[in-house]
Amino acid sequence: MMTSPWLMRLTQLRELLGEKEVDALIVAGPENRRFLSGFSAKDELLTESSGYLLISQGAALLFTDFRYQQWAAQEAQDFDVRVYQGGLATLLTPLLKDLGLRRLGFESAYFTYRQYERLVKDTAAAGAEVDWLPQEGLVEGLREVKTTEEVAAMRRALQLTEAVCQEVAASLRPGLTEGQVAWDIERRLREGEAEGLAFSPIVASGKNSARPHHQPGDTVLQPGDPVILDLGARVAGYCADLTRTFTVGPPDDRFREIYGLVKEAQSRAEKGLKAGMMSDAADALAREVIAARGYGEAFGHSLGHGVGLAVHEAPSLSPYKDRASPLKAGSVFTVEPGIYLPDWGGVRLENMALLHQDRAEVLTSLGYLEF
Ligand code: ZN
Ligand code: ZN
Repeated sequence: MMTSPWLMRLTQLRELLGEKEVDALIVAGPENRRFLSGFSAKDELLTESSGYLLISQGAALLFTDFRYQQWAAQEAQDFDVRVYQGGLATLLTPLLKDLGLRRLGFESAYFTYRQYERLVKDTAAAGAEVDWLPQEGLVEGLREVKTTEEVAAMRRALQLTEAVCQEVAASLRPGLTEGQVAWDIERRLREGEAEGLAFSPIVASGKNSARPHHQPGDTVLQPGDPVILDLGARVAGYCADLTRTFTVGPPDDRFREIYGLVKEAQSRAEKGLKAGMMSDAADALAREVIAARGYGEAFGHSLGHGVGLAVHEAPSLSPYKDRASPLKAGSVFTVEPGIYLPDWGGVRLENMALLHQDRAEVLTSLGYLEF
């Protein structure tokens, strides 16, 4: 019999809980919640949760409120769905006692300080004796290595994203605003098979292209401007992430130089990546190329990030040695060097790659500008 992905993931998490010596974990991160249970609701605000999971060696519970009850029960079939009124603590306290849970892990990255304080206070007031043990990265670590199905969803998302990027790039002309181009991207992604956007598209023209995370506005595209398009569709919950840089009309010599250098840095990284390599060494593959030509300071962000249910997830391909981790076979991440010069503009090129034991498979097939 086939085991459902949710049951396999629960088994993996339970092993980790055993290692950490926690009796149960409260899962609050929306992507973690979806990954473990299948319940696909998002959290629109940090302060408004669509639900929590409580996972112990023997129990798998999903707590939510009335608005999500039917939805959660339909999607999270391996979970016992319970509805709370008046906050999580009312439901949690008797359960902690019934199940004999004393050492309680919680996802510290997804609880606000206020929530944490209230839970501690309310459960204690109701007579539960609990050690609250902040946990980080447990489910994120499981999410890092993708299954064939997860990769397939990302391939579909990326394919659509590439098609839209190409169409929109062909339509760039002087007089359009960044905002109009961004809307065009959004509309085309939604009219394709995307269930939504992985993130709000970035359209950064002229000097705005020196801001890696620019918010498209009413800046009008001018002849000769560099234009960065950074976009991604979401398909079956999974994200794509793609950046290409174009120009409005023919590029000048400076653009050609910077573009060529970023492309060379990206290509060197893609050819040098393999499983087991430390994340900071991966970043260095591209950074060395850019630094050697004197643009080190202008590449101010990491080389890449994991992509999956979240557009930014583990691993982080950053230059920081103290946060470095070995890259795992089966992980999917971006390779996106960039050079940003405030008085001129910027160039970023972003591909997605699937890591194999001995090499990285570049999932992105969209080409580059030729000059
Ligand atoms: Zn991107
Ligand atoms: Zn990215």
